Amino acid sequence: MADGRVVVIGAGPAGLEAARLAADLGARVTVVEKKQALGGMPISANYAALTHGFRSAEEAMGEMISAVVDHPNIELRTSSQVTAMSGSAPELSLTIANGDASEEVSAGAVIVATGFRHFDPGRETQQYGYYEFPDVITLADAEAMLKADNFVRPSNGEVPERVAFIQCVGSRDRQIGNEFCSKVCCGISSKQAIEIRQQVPDARVFIFYIDMRMYGYWENDIYWPAQEQYKVNYVKGIVTEILLKGDKLVVRGED
Ligand SMILES: Cc1cc2nc3c(=O)[nH]c(=O)nc-3n(C[C@H](O)[C@H](O)[C@H](O)COP(=O)(O)OP(=O)(O)OC[C@H]3O[C@@H](n4cnc5c(N)ncnc54)[C@H](O)[C@@H]3O)c2cc1C
Ligand code: SF4
Repeated sequence: MADGRVVVIGAGPAGLEAARLAADLGARVTVVEKKQALGGMPISANYAALTHGFRSAEEAMGEMISAVVDHPNIELRTSSQVTAMSGSAPELSLTIANGDASEEVSAGAVIVATGFRHFDPGRETQQYGYYEFPDVITLADAEAMLKADNFVRPSNGEVPERVAFIQCVGSRDRQIGNEFCSKVCCGISSKQAIEIRQQVPDARVFIFYIDMRMYGYWENDIYWPAQEQYKVNYVKGIVTEILLKGDKLVVRGED
């Protein structure tokens, strides 16, 4: 490498871990994060307990953040973005802008870890009435309620008697640009199903799935305990529509 510096763009879990590993191997690292806070989606979207270990997002991400903030080989540029890059590895030149100020940085390698955005089921598929029915929520909405230890029906503030997860909404749909399975939502919905059963023990929880992408940790520590210990009901089938009947939602589907 002509310049031993590694620039990591994005300080979510992936960028933080990449930065720490590169720095541990002796590289000088610059982390560029567009937000003011480090930690990526688990922090900015207020996630509750994170796997592995069901630890609070602040605690789990805090360890990763400290390892980067305290590392002698790592420099941080928050509220900043890479606005230009030229050359080719290992002789790269980048412009990093922070508001009106900017600096030129030479690097041997760049790691892009800019992450993801949450899928909007109401806007992107118009299925299942996300904008129509207050009690249709996303995993991200559920995270915020679980974090507040207040898992209720948004329509009336009452605890739900039954909760249904619908898997794979918008997944493998080329029309909306989602060609692939995300690989995380089977695990996250099963994790949330466990948390709902812990917080609202009287609620019955159903997961309507097409495929379950569970392996290793997710299978052994989440999927099987969800069924065997927490009595979560996994139903293979496709939910075709959600209807409002009285003040309750009815989930209709094909088994
Ligand atoms: C509801 C939900 C719950 C989840 N719970 C868990 C869990 O319990 N355990 C688990 O392991 N995983 C969980 N996940 C998955 C986990 O959140 C992701 O795998 C993880 O956040 C991906 O990390 P990342 O760094 O790739 O992306 P992100 O977390 O999206 O971070 C990307 C970072 O890059 C920054 N960025 C973006 N663009 C730029 C740019 N141009 N310049 C500079 N910076 C930029 C962003 O501001 C952000 O800080 C969950 C996901 C969801 C949706
Ligand atoms: S199979 Fe599981 S991980 Fe893949 S998109 Fe469907 S719900 Fe998400």
